[in-house]
Amino acid sequence: MAKRLPAVFLGHGNPMQALVRNDYTEAWRRLGVDMPRPKAILAISAHWYGRGTAVTVATAPRTLHDFGGFPRELYEIQYPAPGDPELAASIQQLLAPLAVSLDDGWGLDHGAWSVLHHIYPDADIPVVQIRIDATKGPDQHFEIGRILAPLRDKGVLILGSGNTVHNLRMYAWGRPSQEPYDWAARFDNTIRELMQAGDFASVVHYEALGRDAALSIPTPEHYLPLLYVLGARQPGDGIRFPVSGIEGGAVSMLAVQVG
Ligand code: ZN
Repeated sequence: MAKRLPAVFLGHGNPMQALVRNDYTEAWRRLGVDMPRPKAILAISAHWYGRGTAVTVATAPRTLHDFGGFPRELYEIQYPAPGDPELAASIQQLLAPLAVSLDDGWGLDHGAWSVLHHIYPDADIPVVQIRIDATKGPDQHFEIGRILAPLRDKGVLILGSGNTVHNLRMYAWGRPSQEPYDWAARFDNTIRELMQAGDFASVVHYEALGRDAALSIPTPEHYLPLLYVLGARQPGDGIRFPVSGIEGGAVSMLAVQVG
């Protein structure tokens, strides 16, 4: 049996992270070195959020430059990792009776490649993405993570990519070192303490956490990938935070490693 892989959530932040080297990207790179080498990666990105659960089946997924207004170098990045249609099919079976469509239109969006580019720069590990069904509630996303957990024993790295705090309306563009807003720092800390205490139910039902949660998660797509990763926790798994920090006052770079 393959060695059990951790499940990891990364705060991806600004897509420009793909082009730079800093403490965040260095910590991502180290993760790639320290974790057992996966046979495949299942990426849950904030940037594939729509109606219905789906998995990518392309054998050579396209690198999607799904953003606007960034420098040309960012559009020139390619992440030519292969796909893994067999893994996609096994995910479809594992999640039955939940309907999962096989999608050959999507490729790898920047939520996936902007971090993978640092973790596995050689792009030689197959990647499948799963679409986050926007019609489902947080508890259902947590449940999907729970059902997917056995993949960790088959050499699959479950990789969530989003941000625990993501408020672009308040984000200080061009000023990454802007002091964090109080609500952002408080919420990031609360979530971290809840995870450390194993109180995943409160992390899932974040809306009950009040105004700090409402400001930190104005829309859920960047938060939900975390719930897949927490859902995939197995008995005895430790939890650690290989990266932390708040960028531009309102985007948390917190990373969460389970197992
Ligand atoms: Zn994003």
